[in-house]
Amino acid sequence: MQTHILGYPRIGSKRELKKACEQYWSGKIVLEELLTAGRTICSQNWNLQKEAGIDLIPCNDFSYYDQVLDMSLVVGAIPTRYHEVALKKNNSELDLYFAMARGYQKDGLDITAMEMTKWFDTNYHYIVPEFYKNQQFKLSSDKIFNEFAGAQQAGINAKPVIIGLISYLLLGKEKEEGFDKLDLVHNLLPVYAEIISKLQSQGAEWIQFDEPFLALDITEKAKEAYVLVYAELRRLFPNLKFIVATYFEGLKNNVALAVSLPVNVLHIDLVRNPEQLEDILHIIPENLSLSLGVVDGRNIWKNDYEKSLSFITKTVEKLGSERVFIAPSSSLLHSSCDLDFETNLDPEIKNWLAFAKQKVKEVVILKELASATTDSLILQDFEDNKKAISDRKTSPLIHNEEVKLRAASVTEQDSQRQNPFNIRKVAQKETLQLPLFPTTTIGSFPQTAEVRSWRAKFKKGELTAKQYDALLKEETQRTIRWQENIGIDVLVHGEYERNDMVEYFGEQLKGFIFTKNGWVQSYGSRCVKPPIIFGDVSRPEPMTVYWSQYAQSQTKQWVKGMLTGPVTILQWSFVRDDQPRSETCKQIALAIRDEVQDLEKVGIRIIQIDEPAIREGLPLRKTDWQNYLKWAVEAFKISASGVEDTTQIHTHMCYSEFNDIIKNIADMDADVITIECSRSQMELLHAFADFKYPNEIGPGVYDIHSPRVPSKEEMIELLIKAQQVIPAKQLWVNPDCGLKTRHWEETEKALVAMVAAAKEASVEF
Ligand code: GLN
Ligand code: ZN
Repeated sequence: MQTHILGYPRIGSKRELKKACEQYWSGKIVLEELLTAGRTICSQNWNLQKEAGIDLIPCNDFSYYDQVLDMSLVVGAIPTRYHEVALKKNNSELDLYFAMARGYQKDGLDITAMEMTKWFDTNYHYIVPEFYKNQQFKLSSDKIFNEFAGAQQAGINAKPVIIGLISYLLLGKEKEEGFDKLDLVHNLLPVYAEIISKLQSQGAEWIQFDEPFLALDITEKAKEAYVLVYAELRRLFPNLKFIVATYFEGLKNNVALAVSLPVNVLHIDLVRNPEQLEDILHIIPENLSLSLGVVDGRNIWKNDYEKSLSFITKTVEKLGSERVFIAPSSSLLHSSCDLDFETNLDPEIKNWLAFAKQKVKEVVILKELASATTDSLILQDFEDNKKAISDRKTSPLIHNEEVKLRAASVTEQDSQRQNPFNIRKVAQKETLQLPLFPTTTIGSFPQTAEVRSWRAKFKKGELTAKQYDALLKEETQRTIRWQENIGIDVLVHGEYERNDMVEYFGEQLKGFIFTKNGWVQSYGSRCVKPPIIFGDVSRPEPMTVYWSQYAQSQTKQWVKGMLTGPVTILQWSFVRDDQPRSETCKQIALAIRDEVQDLEKVGIRIIQIDEPAIREGLPLRKTDWQNYLKWAVEAFKISASGVEDTTQIHTHMCYSEFNDIIKNIADMDADVITIECSRSQMELLHAFADFKYPNEIGPGVYDIHSPRVPSKEEMIELLIKAQQVIPAKQLWVNPDCGLKTRHWEETEKALVAMVAAAKEASVEF
C-alpha cells in the first residue's frame, strides 16, 4: 500500500506567495526575491509531506498564479497579443506569464488579460487557455523540470503533476470558428511526449495526469481521444508509472473507459461519490491499481477513519495491498493550510477539523491502520479519532432540536407568497408609487479606505462602539442624501457596516465559526477565508434591521433592505458534511426569512435577497441539476415568502448564463430581479425575453468592474435594446452589481448619467 498527495496548497501557510507576488507586481521586490519565496514554499511543502511519511510527493503542483496557465506557458499556448511582452528587454518568462494572467499596461502596450473562469464546482478560478485552428504547440518553459530538480535537491524523487492532455484541451476555449479543440490532440501530443521524456531522463518514475473530465459528461469524441492519447503515451514510455487522477465527481458512465486506459494507477474521489467503488472493483483489470481518495480535499473536517478503512479494506481484499493507494479525494488546494495556527477556535470544534497539513497526516495514519499496525501512538490516534467523530454526532454545540424541528415542519405553503405575481404587482404599484423605469443600485456604495480604517480601528479597540456607530451613520446618511439629490427612486443604505456579504451574516448567525488564518486561494494572489458552518443555523437577533431602519428614518423615499440569500451563504462557506447541503441551506433560509419579516415589521417595503452564487452551485453532472435547482429555488422562496403582497422582494445575480436555468429563475418568483448584463450588451436579457419572463427585471446598464464612466447616451441605447425584448413597464434601471470596489468620483458621474438616461427613456417610451 502506498500514500500520495494529489497537490498541496501553494499560497504558503501565511499567504507568503500572495505577499511576494503583490510586492513583485508593485516593483517592491525583484524577480530573484519572488523566486526565492516560491522555492521556499515548495521546499516547506515537500518537507512537511516527507516528514509525515508520504510515499509519493507531488511537484509541479506549485504555481505562481494558476496551474492551467502554467500548462499554457509550458506547451506554448501563448496568444499572439502577448508576444511583444516577451520581446521587451528586462522581461522574464514570469513577466510574460503574469501579463497573460493580469494584462499588461506599460512600455506603450495595453493588452487585456486572458479570461478567467471557475475550476469545476470550486471557488478557485483558472485562466482559460485560448485555442485557434491548426494551432501549433512548442515546449516553451522549463517550469516542470526545474520543480522536479528542486525536489531532487531536497532528496525527493517527486511525482510531477500535469494536467492531462484531454482535460487541458477541454478546459480551453475555441477563439475562432470552424474547428474543434479536440482536433488539436495531434498537435499537442508531441509536446506532452517531450515533457515526459525530459522528466524521465531527469529520473522521474511517476507522472500524475489530472483528468477530472473523465468524471464528467463527455462526448464520444472526447472518449476516443482518451483512448488514443493514453495508448500513445504508454507506447512511448512503457516503463514510466502513470497515475490518472479524477476528482469532484464519480466515473459513473465512464467507468469502463477509465479502467481500460493503459495506466498504472487510477485515482477516484470517494468523498464525492463513494458508490463508484463497487462498480470499479467489479471490472478493474489486473494490471491496474486503485488510488482511493478518502480524505476530503475540498473541506476542513477531520476524516472518519472507520469509514475510510471500510473502503480501504474492501479494496485490499479484492486487489491485494500492493495495488492500493491512499490519498485525499482531490488536490488539497481547496482546503485551508494549517489548523495549528488557529489558536482562538473553540477547542471542541477545533477537534473536529483538519486542514491540509493535518490531512497529510491522516493519509499516512490510514495506511498504518490499514496495515494492521501495532504502533501504540497510531492506535491512540485511532481512538481519539473515533471519539472526535462520535462527539460531533451528538454535540449540543451542533445540534439544536428546535432548528431541526422547524426545518422538518416546513410546508409547501412556506415557499409560496400569498398571491401570484400579477396580483402582488397591483398591490405593490399602489403602495410603492414608482415611476416607469425606476432607478436603483445593487446595495453597496464605495467602501473607501476611510470606511475600512474605521472597521479596523473598531476591531482593535481604537474606536469605541459608539464612535464607530456614529461614523457609519454619518456615512449612511450622506449616501441617502446624495441618492435623493441625484434623483434615484429606490435608495440603499450603502452596506458600510459590512466587510463581506457572507461573513457579515455568518458572524451573526449561530452555527458558524471563523478562522484567523484559514485562507484558500481563489485566483492568483487572491485568497478567501470561507466561514465554517459547523452546526444547526439559527438567528438569535435581527441582523440588518438596525441599519435599514436607520436609513429609512432619514428619508421619505423607499430604502431597500439588503440581505444575502441562503444559497450564496452556503456556496461561499465550508459546509458541514454530516447532513445534506440542502438541509443546511433550508436552515439558513429560515433564518433569512425571519430577517425579511423583521424588516417588513419596521416598515421596509422593498427587500433584496442577493443570490449571485445560485448558478455556480449547479452540480457537475447534468442529471443532478434538477434536484439541486429544486432545493435551491425552494430555499430562496422560503426566505422570501413570509411577507405581505405589498412588500416587494428583489433578488440580484451576477456573472450568470441564464439560458439553461431561466425556468428555475422564474420559479424563484422574485418581484424584481437585477442582473449583471451590460458587458454582454443586453444579450443575457434574451433568455428572459424568450421565456416571456413575467416579473420585473433590472438589467445592469453599466459595468461596475471597470473605473470607466459610461455616458448617458450609451445607457439609453441599452435601455432601447432592453425594451425591444422586455416590455418597458417591466424594466428597472440599475448598475451591474454593487459599487463597493469603485471610487466615489466615478460612481457619482456614472449614477448621475444613469438617472438622466432613465428619465429620458421614460419620456420616450
Ligand atoms: N448587495 C451586494 C453589493 O451591493 C451584492 C454583491 C454581489 O452581487 N456580489 O455589494
Ligand atoms: Zn452582483
